[in-house]
Amino acid sequence: MKIAIVGAGIVGTAIARELSRYQLDIILLEREPEACMGTSKSNSAILHGGFDAVPGSLKARLNVRGNELFHEIAKELSIPLKTIGSLVLTRDCDDQSQLVELKKRGEMNGVKGLEIWDRETVHEKVPGLCDTVCSALYSPGAGILCPFQATFAFLENAIANGVSFHPDTELLSIERQEKKYLLKTDRGEFHVDHVINAAGTGAGHVASLLGDEIEIIPRKGQYRVLDKGVRQKFHYVLFGLPEEHSKGVLVVPTVHGNTLYGPTSEIKEDIHDHATDVEGIAFVDRGVRKLIARPDIASTIRLFSGVRASTPGGDFRIEKSKGSPGCIQVAGIDSPGLSAAPAIAEYVRELLSEMTELKKKDTVIHHREGIPSVHTMSSKQRNEKIQEDPEAGEILCRCEMVSLSEVREAIRRPGGARTVGGVKRRVRPGSGRCQGGFCESRIIKVLQEELSLSEEDVRKEGRGSWMMRRRDD
Ligand SMILES: Cc1cc2nc3c(=O)[nH]c(=O)nc-3n(C[C@H](O)[C@H](O)[C@H](O)COP(=O)(O)OP(=O)(O)OC[C@H]3O[C@@H](n4cnc5c(N)ncnc54)[C@H](O)[C@@H]3O)c2cc1C
Repeated sequence: MKIAIVGAGIVGTAIARELSRYQLDIILLEREPEACMGTSKSNSAILHGGFDAVPGSLKARLNVRGNELFHEIAKELSIPLKTIGSLVLTRDCDDQSQLVELKKRGEMNGVKGLEIWDRETVHEKVPGLCDTVCSALYSPGAGILCPFQATFAFLENAIANGVSFHPDTELLSIERQEKKYLLKTDRGEFHVDHVINAAGTGAGHVASLLGDEIEIIPRKGQYRVLDKGVRQKFHYVLFGLPEEHSKGVLVVPTVHGNTLYGPTSEIKEDIHDHATDVEGIAFVDRGVRKLIARPDIASTIRLFSGVRASTPGGDFRIEKSKGSPGCIQVAGIDSPGLSAAPAIAEYVRELLSEMTELKKKDTVIHHREGIPSVHTMSSKQRNEKIQEDPEAGEILCRCEMVSLSEVREAIRRPGGARTVGGVKRRVRPGSGRCQGGFCESRIIKVLQEELSLSEEDVRKEGRGSWMMRRRDD
């Protein structure tokens, strides 16, 4: 039985990993040069507790289950995850009953350990909040995780269990041929029995290729990323009260020690609109000022934005295709799609098992190791590593202390980095204060060496993002 999964974001790779445990022939198609180049690379990186989603919705069920699964999977696959808890903060001027409602909603969704903190408790536990903050909903099971590492971990584990990954391969059309489907891409054709559409903001288009109609409403979110040396770090994820279509502006610590301020929630026409602008960032700053007393916007090292693939109904659209029997739509995966990804994968496996018999493989690889970072090793470990591999002692990125050996491994791993941005997301050169000013030219050289590329072939991110141009003289 041959299956094509379209899209190698967190959702497509989680599905690939889940199905790789069964006796199936799986191909994973990705338009961009590598995995994690869509929404999965641009979000708040929160493992949501699950109190916010409407009870009874797919979002509610899969968020709570995904949170539970991520705690196990993070250990198996070396995914950086910290269960730090989150706080929804209310202010004197807010309607306080909303917090009680949110707690009830969370309990209906099965979220455990929710507590309401009064003014005294919240200010005692979290110094540095605005004076106007008067209560909070504490969710102990919420956390932060690295969405890049999670996607790469799922991908590497799927490949280890036999999935065939096809980057730089855009699905262009689908033809039904008796009981099979012929997939035409810009890198050849594939005959498959089932198609799983996990194309993120492109899922509306892929759904139409399958004969279904799913409207995707792109909703952009803009952010500030703050330096690790920010004036004040907060232990918890801080939210305001949720808004109609978003969780509002947040202050979020990242697993790597940075802080995020954002996001906005702006409906856009274009799924590729990743611009940041003055109005959006000013909105973020106003939102942050309602939560914390002294925002440190001077510590900003980067602005970025991500695009949510929302649907008019507001829930995930995970369903069997009506237009193409045997195929599955995994569309409308906006927030909390990252948190829900492993549960979405489980659900897709259940839907698939209703259409075809799934037999478990006799042997499955469950574990995957991350790329060791010389920066976080003890001096003894570091010395031993450098004895064994002198390139571990050659530091390319001084901000994040990333060695040449790590950069090579990021490229050499199965489904490895093909772009400067991909190396950055795997081992962090360019993520620090200088944002690649020092190391970027060296990363380009290593990509050239490892992948036999000319300078003009090296890409910053996705299709067409060439970094060098030869002069036409
Ligand atoms: C601002 C913002 C904040 C968020 N914060 C959180 C959060 O804190 N926690 C949380 O749980 N969730 C959060 N989310 C949601 C989460 O990021 C998404 O739900 C998740 O990343 C969606 O993953 P995906 O795999 O469906 O999509 P993507 O990561 O976009 O992957 C889809 C892939 O499909 C590929 N593709 C598309 N069309 C084709 C084609 N024709 N052929 C081949 N490949 C194709 C694309 O190139 C892309 O790589 C947030 C989202 C945004 C935008």
